[in-house]
Amino acid sequence: MGQLEGKTALIMGVLNEHSLAWAITEALVAEGCACGFTYMPEERMERRVRKTIEGLNSRLIVPCDVQNDAQLQQVFSRAQETYGSLDIVIHSIAFAPRQTFEEPFHKTSRADFQTALDVSAYSLVAVAREALPVLNEYGSLLTLTYGASQRWIPNYNVMAVAKAALECSVRYLAVELGEAKKIRVNAISAGPVKTMAAAGIKGFGSMVERNVVKSPLHETIEPEDVGAAALFLCSSGAKRITGQVYYVDSGYSVMGW
Ligand code: NAP
Repeated sequence: MGQLEGKTALIMGVLNEHSLAWAITEALVAEGCACGFTYMPEERMERRVRKTIEGLNSRLIVPCDVQNDAQLQQVFSRAQETYGSLDIVIHSIAFAPRQTFEEPFHKTSRADFQTALDVSAYSLVAVAREALPVLNEYGSLLTLTYGASQRWIPNYNVMAVAKAALECSVRYLAVELGEAKKIRVNAISAGPVKTMAAAGIKGFGSMVERNVVKSPLHETIEPEDVGAAALFLCSSGAKRITGQVYYVDSGYSVMGW
């Protein structure tokens, strides 16, 4: 019997089979978890997501742009109707306009700054608020971040600022959701993995190379590594772990040289 048999998860952020959210889905499903999904409300995106998850016979596939509060409310009321309650919510979502990865950081416009922070950081707060009544006691809310929140990485720019806000939000949410319902809130800080979101980052190939050359393990990060870490953080083995940023980066983050 799988360790998540009888458990339910809502996965936000599967786009295709390269998405980190998909690797997480595969890890959770392998342990018996039933998963529902959200997709960006565009026909093309819906088709992609449905194709990716088609083998799972999921009972819940709902549109959700995280910038839309009404859609967020709808997602969690649909999750409640479908599953009664949830044990796990995966937030694997980020966006910044393409030019923010191409122009110097000091040229970031107010509008682009707001968009990046809204989609990539505030959305976790909004998700936590809507998820709280639907998540079971001892449930888990997990997000994805990147080490550029802590140290300068070329071209990551406003997304680095958004990730710093996201990580800080994890700590504040961990206190409130922990007190309310013993819900744990954590982030995985993944090393660079080639996905659709990553393809938009100028010089992404050098980020991967540098992670290999400079990290203690000298190895790239595979999506499965992120899936395995997510499974651990959402399982009872991690029942006293909350408010943490958990690095899956071949050790790159510890290097000072
Ligand atoms: P991905 O497959 O492109 O996933 C990003 C997801 O965010 C997509 O499903 C995208 O949907 C969704 N999204 C963007 N704007 C949205 C919005 N307004 N409302 C709802 N969903 C929205 O790329 P990924 O690399 O797996 O990214 C997942 C998470 O991992 C992100 O937080 C990313 O920053 C983080 N991360 C990635 C890496 C890496 O190297 N890949 C490393 C560390 C952390 P659409 O594409 O349909 O818009």
